[in-house]
Order: sequence, then structure tokens, then C-alpha cells
Amino acid sequence: MESVPSLSKTLIEWYDRHRRDLPWRNTTDPYRIWVAEVMLQQTRVAAVIPYYRRFIEKFPAVEVLAAASEVELLSAWSGLGYYSRARSLLAAAREVTSAGRFPASFEALRTLPGIGEYTAAAIASIALGLPHAVLDGNVARVMARLTGEDGDIRSATVRRRLREAAQHRLDRRRPGDFNQAVMELGATLCLPRDPRCRVCPIREQCAAYGSGRQGELPVKSARPAVERIARTVYVIRRRQRLLLWQRPEDSSRLAGFWELPEAAQAPSAHRREKLGSFRHTIVNQNYRFEVWRADVGKAPQGCRWVPLAAVNALPLSTTARKALRLPAAPGGT
Ligand code: SF4
Repeated sequence: MESVPSLSKTLIEWYDRHRRDLPWRNTTDPYRIWVAEVMLQQTRVAAVIPYYRRFIEKFPAVEVLAAASEVELLSAWSGLGYYSRARSLLAAAREVTSAGRFPASFEALRTLPGIGEYTAAAIASIALGLPHAVLDGNVARVMARLTGEDGDIRSATVRRRLREAAQHRLDRRRPGDFNQAVMELGATLCLPRDPRCRVCPIREQCAAYGSGRQGELPVKSARPAVERIARTVYVIRRRQRLLLWQRPEDSSRLAGFWELPEAAQAPSAHRREKLGSFRHTIVNQNYRFEVWRADVGKAPQGCRWVPLAAVNALPLSTTARKALRLPAAPGGT
């Protein structure tokens, strides 16, 4: 039988003892928490840590970020993907700086570009101590198992129920720690497959564990089939320069980013040697990139020779970075 105050207390005590020491957990600076939350929406914790450290070193305060150019921002973000989020971060940093102070409520946070319900609740609870429960994938899974929710976790109605379940259990004195405790439980014990119920601090209150259904919950409808797409990019070098092209500002994806040419940009390129291949997944599209060393006569229209030493300072797309990191490519090790 679940008692809400005792569940919150147990979760927070467990979090105090077991939480991972992550760089964004030693601060209540809303700007730093905001940056971490945006990065964590798209990438695993271990991968975010070095990006977060570099980003905060380069842009230690919201005013510093607000004064940055888009190229500086995208180059610091390059490799994390989801660049529209980075652009929104910059736009919001400029709004905050021109207003002269950080928004002090959930509702005011929601008015900033790119700040949705999850990010606003995370900043409001962790940095400002306000009573707003978060609902990300980890929290949704924990709440579905805890309450025995057997509706489809992808449905809006079920997500609303799970958000209410989290809000109902929120510890009002330590809302930020409660939110982080549930997320931490989902990330470390209440795993999607094989949850570690025997060491879970809330197993006595968990409906799924009580009925032996922790392996069946949450219920999730199937995603659409994955589309497989083959692409070929060229590494074309000439005297310490690399041939690149920049996506136009009105591009629907990755506007302003630099890319390695493909046949569409360099139709006259001659393939010389295969340097390797890699995979890249975007939502339900699974790309396989082949990377070739190639030659061209003169630079095709729309492409530019960029000195190798300057390439890393450009906002390069993630796939161009992956290609250039292949051992046989110019940026490889
Ligand atoms: S008992 Fe198991 S299923 Fe329930 S919350 Fe804990 S880890 Fe998750």
C-alpha cells in the first residue's frame, strides 16, 4: 500500500545516498541547469558530460552566451545534434539578457523560445525550488510501474495521467531533488528491460512489482518501421585544404552547417579510395554512410576549399564530423 509522504521521503533519502556526481548537480544556477537539461533531452548522460563542461567553460553565464554569434554557438554544440534546440537556447539567452533577469516562474519560463513543459518544470523545480513535477521517459516508466498503468505510454491521455501521478507524489519541500530522484531511479534501477527491483527502495509501494508485472509495464505501441538509407560522402583534399559546402540559411535541416560533399554537390568527383563507413540514426531513419577519398578538377559551384586547420572551428554537421574522425580521414586519429 502506497503512502505518498513516505514514498517521497524514501526516494529522496535513496537519492541523497546514491546519486551520481554529475557536473550540473553541484549548482542551482538556472542557466547551467537549463543548458544541461537541453543537452540531456537528446543524448546519454555519459556523452553529455564533456560537451557540457566545454560549453560552460566557453559560455559560463547567460550573458556570455547571449553575446555569442550563431557560428560560435553551433561550433560548441557541433556533434550533439538537434541544432534547432541550440538556436532556441541562444534566442532565449538573448531574451533573458535583454530582460535583465531570469524568469522566476514556470509560466514565465514557458514563454522563452524552445522551453517546453519538461524543461520549464526541471528549471523551476531544481533551480527555483518550485513545485512542478517533470515527466521525461524515465519518470514516465517509473510512474507507469509504480501505479500499474497499463495504457499505451505513447498516448497523450496516459502521459497526462502519469504527469498527474508524478505531481501528486512531488515532495513540496524538495521538488528538484524529488524530480531528480525519480529520474535517477529510472536511469539506474527501474531500467526499461530487467528492472533491478530487488534493490529498489520503493518496491514495497510498486504496483507492478507487487503483481509481478514489472517486465510487462509500461505498455508501448510499436514505432513506425525504420527506413534504411545509403549515402556516400567525399573527402576531397587539396594542399592542406578540404572541400566543404554550407547548407543555406533557409534549409529545413541544419541551416548554416557545413557538410562534406556528396554526388549532388560534386557530380564530377572521382572516387579514389574507400576510407570507411559508419551508421547514423535520426528518429526512424537509419543511414549508412560510405566515406570515399575523391578528387575533383575545380571546386564545384557552392563548394569551398577550407584550410584543414580551420575546419574544427566551423559548425560541422555530426555526420561530417563522424566521417572526418575515421582513422584514414584528415581529422582521423
Ligand atoms: S520495484 Fe522495480 S518496477 Fe517498481 S519502481 Fe522499483 S525498479 Fe521499478
